[in-house]
Amino acid sequence: MKPYDYLIVGAGLFGAVFAERAKSAGKKCLVIDRRDHIAGNVYTYEHEDIHVHMYGPHIFHTNDTEVWKYVNRFAKFNNFKLGTIANYRGEIFSLPFNMYTFNKMWGVLTPEQAQAKIVEQRKAAGIIEPHNLEEQAISLVGTDIYEKLIKGYTEKQWGRECKDLPLFIIKRLPVRLTYDNNYFNALYQGIPIGGYTKMVEHMLDGIEVQLGVDYLKRKNDYDSLAGKVIYTGPIDEYFGYQMGALEYRSVRFEVETLNKLNYQGNAIVNYTEREIPYTRIIEHKWFGNGKDEAGNDLQKTVISREYSAEWKLGDEPYYPVNDEKNQELYAKYRAFAAREPNVIFGGRLGEYRYYDMDQVVKAAICAGNRELS
Ligand code: UDP
Repeated sequence: MKPYDYLIVGAGLFGAVFAERAKSAGKKCLVIDRRDHIAGNVYTYEHEDIHVHMYGPHIFHTNDTEVWKYVNRFAKFNNFKLGTIANYRGEIFSLPFNMYTFNKMWGVLTPEQAQAKIVEQRKAAGIIEPHNLEEQAISLVGTDIYEKLIKGYTEKQWGRECKDLPLFIIKRLPVRLTYDNNYFNALYQGIPIGGYTKMVEHMLDGIEVQLGVDYLKRKNDYDSLAGKVIYTGPIDEYFGYQMGALEYRSVRFEVETLNKLNYQGNAIVNYTEREIPYTRIIEHKWFGNGKDEAGNDLQKTVISREYSAEWKLGDEPYYPVNDEKNQELYAKYRAFAAREPNVIFGGRLGEYRYYDMDQVVKAAICAGNRELS
């Protein structure tokens, strides 16, 4: 008899949701993580009464009522709606692409005029069927917006030419012919009041968690503890990179606390020109209302500048690079994974997928349903 039903490697969203589902089904779980904290990349910590998103900005958004109801069991969400601003050489544009953006870019006033401008630029570029991110972007919003708001940012973020990137990445951003600058097309949206870490803590309530331990270094010992393993680390690392390493983008943050009420007036400002080395600046207090519990304005502010870099061994992997070459390599690792009947691979790193949080939660709930029914 093994002491646990499930060993869950990784205390991020996938691991925490699966653990919660398993515990609810009466199963015994051990959750381990090599970091010294839970919550994976949604981890937030408190500084000067501000919840700092340590691994980059996370805004929960979903159209899935089941997922929304589920996460609301573990946190109360505020009504934050993301409206991003792009700074291109000192000019401010509204994101995602909407009538405010088109008006600022071209002086157009009506949706017809904006549409006509986009069609004209798409035709001039000669694009009929887009094959890569550059062509997709031009065909969605035209050459001017591509040049000023997409090209530089995307090349900084991915370290690759837009021509060499898959087109689905840009489809993440909505294009609207209305004056609506809500970043997400989502029915439900918000950020847990009290931070994501608290939410994940509640999911893991009553479940044994060990932090600062490395599963792959003591794999045999850990495997002997449980009937099944849920693995949410990088799939290529699990298999000792034997087919080669998958490519990821890593991110580095320069965090500063400033004696200022308000640094940039928005939670996220993207710097879309190639020459500025960071992609964006996050001002964390604006994910909330900028006030303390008594309703007083927070006197300080915390900002982080986000720099993107190619991942190398030893770095934190953030974004999977889902281009063709990497997808092919991932398919080989998937084939290996299929031969491990006692391991479920899940999450952004385990499935090598550019997952949003709601998709991760959904995937973990579904994995739970399959496994536990
Ligand atoms: N993007 C862009 N300009 C911007 C913001 C985003 O070109 O100002 C592109 C970029 O290629 C990025 C993609 O849109 O990788 C998706 O952006 P999203 O905001 O979804 O990225 P995330 O918040 O996940 O980093």
